[in-house]
Amino acid sequence: MKSRNLVIIGGGAGGASTAAEAKRRDPSLSVTMIEQGKYVSTAA
Ligand SMILES: Cc1cc2nc3c(=O)[nH]c(=O)nc-3n(C[C@H](O)[C@H](O)[C@H](O)COP(=O)(O)OP(=O)(O)OC[C@H]3O[C@@H](n4cnc5c(N)ncnc54)[C@H](O)[C@@H]3O)c2cc1C
Repeated sequence: MKSRNLVIIGGGAGGASTAAEAKRRDPSLSVTMIEQGKYVSTAA
């Protein structure tokens, strides 16, 4: 089966929750999150 990749631009709340939900739906998915800043997912 072909592997699938998801690239998420931005590691804020939206990016991190999208990454987590995508992996829940398809654990075989390869997820890459690109954040321009020093920290990821700092929102509560
Ligand atoms: C002063 C302030 C206080 C807040 N306090 C709270 C609070 O106490 N509790 C709470 O729940 N919410 C709070 N919020 C709201 C919360 O911060 C936002 O709702 C939440 O961060 C939105 O998440 P987001 O992923 O949509 O956007 P963002 O958090 O803005 O994330 C977007 C990310 O994308 C990155 N990015 C943008 N362009 C690129 C690019 N080209 N390449 C790579 N990376 C990129 C940015 O660096 C950023 O990290 C507050 C907001 C502000 C402004």
